[in-house]
Amino acid sequence: MLDVALSAARAAVARDLADPARAPLLDDAVAHRAWWLSQWEDGGPHVLGLLAQDVQEALHESADPLWPLCPEHRDHPLFVEPDLGPDPFWVCHRTGLPVAPVGSLSP
Ligand SMILES: [Zn+2]
Repeated sequence: MLDVALSAARAAVARDLADPARAPLLDDAVAHRAWWLSQWEDGGPHVLGLLAQDVQEALHESADPLWPLCPEHRDHPLFVEPDLGPDPFWVCHRTGLPVAPVGSLSP
């Protein structure tokens, strides 16, 4: 059974992905983070930001090097900040401004 934090993180990243075809990639990342959480019980607050970064990395290596596309500039992906910590945001590195909390990207 998945940890509560990890289940919530999976649902949030699935919303941002907005593409059921990418679910296998998300499931791989969730499986990896389930193992990681088993090694670090207090990792729960960090798991959403890490899972989003895992999925982004996997997508950048395969299908979509621009995910998630910056809604303002439309020529670069957003990045997760902080790298490690609770309440992660998608951020435009060009303006330095947060665009949306992870899990709340508008389609
Ligand atoms: Zn931007």
